[in-house]
Amino acid sequence: MLFSIKTKLSLSYILIIIICVTLILILANIVLESQFKNYVITQQEQNSERAVELISNRYQSFEGWDVEYIESVGMNALENGLILKIADLDDVVIWDATTHNNGLCQDMLASMSLNMQSRYAKWEGGYEEKYYEIKDSNGIILGTASTGYYGPYYFTDRDLYFINTINSLLIWVGIASMIIALFIGVVISRQISRPISSVINKARMIADGMYEGKIEEKSKTKEIKKLVDTVNSLADTLKKQQDLSRQLSSDISHELRTPLTTLQGNLEGIIDGIIGLDANRLNVMYDEVLRINRLVDDLGKLTQYESKGFHLAKEEFDLTKLIRNITDNFIAEAEKEHKKILFKGEKEIIVADKDKISQVIINMISNALKFTNANGQVNIEVIGSESETVIKIKDDGIGISDNDLQHIFERFYRADKSRNRITGGAGIGLAIVKSIINAHGGTIEAESKIGSGSEFIITLPKIIK
Ligand code: ADP
Repeated sequence: MLFSIKTKLSLSYILIIIICVTLILILANIVLESQFKNYVITQQEQNSERAVELISNRYQSFEGWDVEYIESVGMNALENGLILKIADLDDVVIWDATTHNNGLCQDMLASMSLNMQSRYAKWEGGYEEKYYEIKDSNGIILGTASTGYYGPYYFTDRDLYFINTINSLLIWVGIASMIIALFIGVVISRQISRPISSVINKARMIADGMYEGKIEEKSKTKEIKKLVDTVNSLADTLKKQQDLSRQLSSDISHELRTPLTTLQGNLEGIIDGIIGLDANRLNVMYDEVLRINRLVDDLGKLTQYESKGFHLAKEEFDLTKLIRNITDNFIAEAEKEHKKILFKGEKEIIVADKDKISQVIINMISNALKFTNANGQVNIEVIGSESETVIKIKDDGIGISDNDLQHIFERFYRADKSRNRITGGAGIGLAIVKSIINAHGGTIEAESKIGSGSEFIITLPKIIK
């Protein structure tokens, strides 16, 4: 059977209150009863002794039995549940409550018995007597007093009223506590169940592919706050991934469309006999095929490098030597445009994936040359320290605006779309560089000022995990 949080919480609160109140009721009654029993017994003892003392005192001042006085003491004792009987030394009865008013005595005993039975169904009590000697101040015995009462002990109407009041008070406290518990249970369960319901709704929406909108519930419960935050960030991540894959599909189709349209146009022209099929035309078409191939190849690499299981073929090599070899290959091309490549760096042994690092350096140098005007200069520097290796590639080319600088490492991002179409890039080069550097546990940063050049700083840790 399934219960809601509200039902469960409220029921458990009520159960706790019932257990507490019942325990308090039982304990209070046990304590109350034993205390009351002792109190009643000593009270009865004291009342008897007080009556005897009063009668003894009066005997001495009156110089004999003052029956009238004894009667007033006896009647007073009767009110407290004591049936007094006074006799002299010869056992001659001076005053006896039963003789004086037997009806009253029997009524009193019957009422005591009723009181006790009203409280204890199986109470077995009966008439009991105690004897006292009446002595004067010198200790000389004057007579005897006997007190009869309902034993072993009894509760008067007043006592019973007190006990019952306490019990009904506790029951009312219990009822009031249950109402408060129910109220608190409902309030607290609502505080817990409301955000959970929102989380359930949101999870359902996520399952249906709707990631927009956050759960706005604010909760002061730690676990619930965490749950809400986690589901919100899950929706966020899924939304980003969805956007990214949508963006990727649209970018890929956009990038493929241009070369394919060019190819199609050319082929249609050739088929229709409008365009002649000469070497020049074939070269144009071949370039477009190369462009498509490069794009597909780059995308494949990027997917591979960004995947979690990407394996680096690590080896130990001199980075400075590698960069020198690569720059040598670029020098001829650079000189054609009167551009200079300068390299600075000492022998720097690193452990990394040599092929991938080569690719990074090639991409960086080719970008630096690509975006540098004629007579420009590219400076490359390798700085090694105990914990890391820094590679700096600096050019004095066109530079990158602040706005573009934040995006240049994103795939398909090109600062100047029309220019890059001419320079041939699809905006994937830096994304590949970044994924290779990240796979090595390193970082890449760019600093640039429009018109005065850019600097790319690659930092590789010495120990690559
Ligand atoms: P592409 O293949 O188009 O060059 P990249 O990912 O290598 O793509 O670079 C992304 C964009 O960053 C480029 O299109 C260009 O706008 C900008 N960029 C990269 N390197 C430089 C540089 N050295 N100077 C100026 N702009 C650069």
